[in-house]
Amino acid sequence: MEAELKQALQNKEFELYYQPQFSIKENQFVGAEALIRWNSPTRGLVSPAVFIPLAEETGLIREIGKWVLFEACLQGKTWLDQGFNIKRLAVNVSAQQLYLDDLQSQIQLALQQTGFPSSLLELEVTEGTLIESNRVIQPLFKALQDQGISIAIDDFGTGYSSLSYLKRFSVDILKIDKSFVDDIETDKDDRAIIRAIISMAHSLELKVLAEGVETQAQKAFLSKQGCDFYQGYLKSRPLPVKEFLDSV
Ligand code: C2E
Ligand code: CA
Ligand code: CA
Repeated sequence: MEAELKQALQNKEFELYYQPQFSIKENQFVGAEALIRWNSPTRGLVSPAVFIPLAEETGLIREIGKWVLFEACLQGKTWLDQGFNIKRLAVNVSAQQLYLDDLQSQIQLALQQTGFPSSLLELEVTEGTLIESNRVIQPLFKALQDQGISIAIDDFGTGYSSLSYLKRFSVDILKIDKSFVDDIETDKDDRAIIRAIISMAHSLELKVLAEGVETQAQKAFLSKQGCDFYQGYLKSRPLPVKEFLDSV
């Protein structure tokens, strides 16, 4: 698979799907997350849950991540040119892009080459990524935010959930991990954790997005707790570009 993955970029086998995000109260479209897919000629559609870990192990993630960034900005600009107000476009960024690459220059270049406005770009960084080191991250986030780019903490609640780093790195959005949302209806501890995350985030003036929302009951609970945004199969799966506009 590693050999095939190496060829995949060059052979244009990757594609970005987009999952729309909505406000909970008004159910209004607020943005989308870009999620990579691999259309392998030998394996069919391969899930990122399978090939992203391999890409990380082999370092290929750096090239793939660069492509994702550019492709998402290009698509965002195309939508804007077509008159579709995309609002916010979130791109997943891996640890290696943060620590090994000059991410700021890469983003600058992608924005320049595509003409996509920085204020509509959001970077999703997993909670686990942040704890490893912070000397690099703090100034990087600050510089990106000065350009109008927003930062979301992905899979929030699954790592150490250190409150001090939320203060230290100024971030804009917390994405409550799907594992907590899954058990809203059955597990009172998960409900308590969600309540705590939302109230803490709001005290720190951060927005909260719940991911993996699949049922009305989950959405109702999140809404009652004051969660700001959500995404999930309840509203829409990640979709290829040609189906995306019909879903929002
Ligand atoms: P993630 O960033 O946490 O993305 C959310 C995952 O949950 C996506 O899986 C999405 O399709 C799925 N999902 C969304 N709503 C629901 C729902 O209601 N129910 C269920 N069961 N699942 C839902 P996907 O697309 O398979 O991606 C898996 C992971 O692969 C992502 O998790 C992310 O960590 C990674 N990934 C995907 N695209 C990229 C990328 O461009 N760059 C990097 N570095 N990682 C990526
Ligand atoms: Ca994500
Ligand atoms: Ca996530």
